[in-house]
Amino acid sequence: MTVVAQILVAAGKGARFKGETPKQYMDLGGKTVLRRSLDNLKAAWPTTRAFVIVHAQGDPLLADAIEGFDGIIVPVTGGSTRCQSVRAGIATLEDLAPDLILIHDAARPFVSKRVIEDVVDALKTNEAAVPVLPIVDAVKAFDGQIGDDLARGHMRRVQTPQGFRFQDVWPLYQTLSPDADFADDIALAKNAGLSIGTVDGDEKTFKITFPEDLEKARQMLGNGTYIATGTGFDVHRTEPGDLLWLCGVAIEAGFALKGHSDADVGLHALTDALYGALAEGDIGDHFPPTDPQWKGAESHVFLTHAKDRVQARGGTIQHVDVTLICEKPKVKPHRAAMRARVAELLEIAETRVSIKATTTEQLGFTGRGEGIAAQASATLSLPDHD
Ligand code: MG
Repeated sequence: MTVVAQILVAAGKGARFKGETPKQYMDLGGKTVLRRSLDNLKAAWPTTRAFVIVHAQGDPLLADAIEGFDGIIVPVTGGSTRCQSVRAGIATLEDLAPDLILIHDAARPFVSKRVIEDVVDALKTNEAAVPVLPIVDAVKAFDGQIGDDLARGHMRRVQTPQGFRFQDVWPLYQTLSPDADFADDIALAKNAGLSIGTVDGDEKTFKITFPEDLEKARQMLGNGTYIATGTGFDVHRTEPGDLLWLCGVAIEAGFALKGHSDADVGLHALTDALYGALAEGDIGDHFPPTDPQWKGAESHVFLTHAKDRVQARGGTIQHVDVTLICEKPKVKPHRAAMRARVAELLEIAETRVSIKATTTEQLGFTGRGEGIAAQASATLSLPDHD
């Protein structure tokens, strides 16, 4: 199998970005730009043997940015120029001696799987490969004044990842003079006379250079999904007994709840909230009370079905909130267990699960202890094409 290593160049200070935090560490939808690049590179080429991250010296933000990454990361301090930084990165791969290396700007978070596949493919017949894009705007010489038209048909914009055969490119960097500076790695390869293949780049793989680029990237992440909120409400009558179920937790309350299933009023309201956000009817449509197979059913079956429907629709459960309405039992002692159980059933973090309780000041059927009510809301993100 072809051994591929990837180098992320993240040593930039971001002079054009004007922020105190280097752009590769800015937040982009809950991850740093660098981490999003890293995760996308991994997703695009899952068998990558190692990811070398070339970072600025003494960079305190790197550890957080790579925490929990499932892959081999080799951090290395960059040099004074891009070439020297990449050289330091490639040097760490000498023992691994991969067949191919891909060198990518960490500030291009939306790397395309198709482009990576095309670059690797192009390296079968070329010593180096680069993604390029045409220039659509007119291009003119400029020195403070508009000059002559330049022939844009003969120009290309150049992106990353740029791909190389390790055995060809490593000697070039080993013999690089300390003051040599090339705009990118392909320029060095070109200077050395390597054969260079081109593949179609991807507009989405733009480089975050100015603050407005980060805004554009954030908008791109938001696009393609919409937020849906559903609500649910349920009531179960109390009956003699000693144990009842609330939000997936058995509680010795000295009474029970009556129902066709285990009568977990909290999970029923929550299940309906999920169906509501999906606009897929209610719990009675999916689990008819007239159907004997659901008699005595454990309510986690219903909630799991609703969660599976969210996943089948390509959605994500962002948050759920349940309010239990009763005088008894006291919910607070069981709240942590309820949150844990609901989070487990929905496969989301406990921080996204809220369980609350209230009484009705001894008024009405809940106040008299004739029944327990529950209401819930669920917030989902769903794909726009849904
Ligand atoms: Mg019910």
